[in-house]
Formats: sequence, structure tokens, C-alpha cells
Amino acid sequence: MIYTVGRTQIYLDGFEVCCRLGEPMQKKGKAEDYPGGSVWETFEEAQKYATEGFSVFGVVADWENDTIPSEKGKDWHDLQRDANLIMVCPKCGNPSRWIQSGIPRWTIACRSCKEIISIP
Ligand SMILES: [Zn+2]
Repeated sequence: MIYTVGRTQIYLDGFEVCCRLGEPMQKKGKAEDYPGGSVWETFEEAQKYATEGFSVFGVVADWENDTIPSEKGKDWHDLQRDANLIMVCPKCGNPSRWIQSGIPRWTIACRSCKEIISIP
């Protein structure tokens, strides 16, 4: 697994729609007019780019085979093919489901780090 950074609201809305349709949520890879989504090799590196309103998500792809160094960035790569996205714990980066919980809007009860995290 590799990682991406996305606007929390948009990504979570996307997961909700895909869930309802029974389809995987995907990160867009290289296309004719698009270099491919930005991805990072480690959770810690991606986290540095997850400023307020943004979160880290897992990308089911391979750093060596599915990405190439970005022309624009120093420490991220461009995803070369569409790949499934998964929710990860905002603290430890392990796969963890975000539960929509009203206010605060999402709650993540991580089985790996045992933290319960609320995202407004
Ligand atoms: Zn965790």
C-alpha cells in the first residue's frame, strides 16, 4: 500500500457514494491530459502534506511498479494507473474504517493503535 492526501470532505463523500453503489473508491492514474494522482511511499511522508481539511488515504498500488517521480514535486510520485483507495487511521496509517457519526462528523476506532479519533 502507498498513500495519497485528499480533501477530507470530498474523499469521505466519495467513499459514501461508492459504498452505496457497491463500487470501490478510486484514485485516478495517468491519463492523456493528467499526470496521475500524487502519491507518497509512506504514511509519515504523506502526513506532512495533510494540512487542515486534508487527510491521508491508502492507495492499493505498488510504489516501484505503479508510480513514477513527479516532475513537479520532490518527494511524491505520479500514479500511473487507477487504483483503489482505502480509509486509514489518521494516527498510525493502518487500514481503519471511518464511521459517519454526525457531529463530530467521523469517528475512527483504530484496532491497531487503539485510538478513537474524531474528525469534524
Ligand atoms: Zn491507528
